[in-house]
Amino acid sequence: MQINADLHIHSRFSGATSSSMTIEKLAESAPKKGIDVLATGDCLHREWQKEIKECEKIDDGTFEKRGTRFILSTEVEDMNRVHHLLYFPSFSQVEEFRKRVEKFSTDLDGDGRPKIRLSGIEIAQIAKDFDILIGPAHAFTPWTAMYAYHNSLKDCYGDLADYVSFLELGLSADSDYADRISELHRLTFLTNSDSHSPHPVRLAREFNRMEVKDATFEEIRKAILRRGGNKVVLNVGFPPQEGKYNETACIKCYRHFSLEEAIARGWKCPCGGRIKKGVKDRVRELADLDEPVHPEHRPPYLHIIPLTEIIAKAIGQSSVFTKKVESLWENLVSHFGSEVNVLVDASIDEIAIYSNPAVAEAIDLFRRGKVKIIPGGGGKYGVIEIHPSEEYIPVNFNRQKSLLDF
Ligand SMILES: [Zn+2]
Ligand SMILES: [Zn+2]
Repeated sequence: MQINADLHIHSRFSGATSSSMTIEKLAESAPKKGIDVLATGDCLHREWQKEIKECEKIDDGTFEKRGTRFILSTEVEDMNRVHHLLYFPSFSQVEEFRKRVEKFSTDLDGDGRPKIRLSGIEIAQIAKDFDILIGPAHAFTPWTAMYAYHNSLKDCYGDLADYVSFLELGLSADSDYADRISELHRLTFLTNSDSHSPHPVRLAREFNRMEVKDATFEEIRKAILRRGGNKVVLNVGFPPQEGKYNETACIKCYRHFSLEEAIARGWKCPCGGRIKKGVKDRVRELADLDEPVHPEHRPPYLHIIPLTEIIAKAIGQSSVFTKKVESLWENLVSHFGSEVNVLVDASIDEIAIYSNPAVAEAIDLFRRGKVKIIPGGGGKYGVIEIHPSEEYIPVNFNRQKSLLDF
């Protein structure tokens, strides 16, 4: 069977998250997005654990609330400010891990994403000791990622680099970016939302389609490790230009710079703000290949844009958080079953019936790659433009196909 899984979110117990990040609300939102499995995030946090434990227990590492499955996960920040993602086989392994890191952290119950005063090597060693999966989160972003502070997996994880089985691409990169770095060819790439809110513009804005025998932790683990025929069959996510750290830019006025210019200016913008290196430039620095070379196991990457954004553009609203956008979204999703179905599979004529001609046309243009994106940078998301009368610089949607093809 195939499942859609978003394996990186945060609960309301992490900093800067929505108070509606509850299991209840997530279980309500996930199916509308077409998601079968969520990773809980924040599973070291006592209060969040209580909420997870109210779910029906499927097995030691799999929980269910009204049809949506959850597996145990957390993100932690190490002493070098690098973020790591961890997936746990059971609550007893969560406890073992907690015990080992307790004396190196002051905020295990303060922040869903705790800081741990250990290196990547030390955290990976503890993960290995308890059979916990570990890999770098949003690996290329400029603030808190592996490649922000290290030049290689080995530099971050030392001898434990071989134990690392996956890498999260982050919103500003896709597999064409990452597969220009040959040390990453061995790894499974994950595309996750890192969502801090259950709103449809955030939750599952990136997700993984996996071939598994059941929607359980053990089966997902096998998919990440590519064992027993299990695997990720499709990475789904933003065109990298839409990510907020795609290009090198000032974090104050968002002016974009070439890498050379940023270096020449000593990473200082004329406005006084700091310039942050974009993911595109960071990958260019790290790449040992001029063009991406995909290993045989690498699945295709499907670029998508949240349906709420397409609707907002189509009806000329500047925000996705309006009643009008939300009601059009609800209509479409309830008729076609999920957002993924609307974006990729439903017939355009039928979409027009359940929304309006402008929305149907915008979805059609999106499917045909007639979308222009002004790249993001410096912490500001890219801006999407969908308008039939304009001239387009199409983004790379060349591998766009129906989800049913995978
Ligand atoms: Zn993070
Ligand atoms: Zn500036």
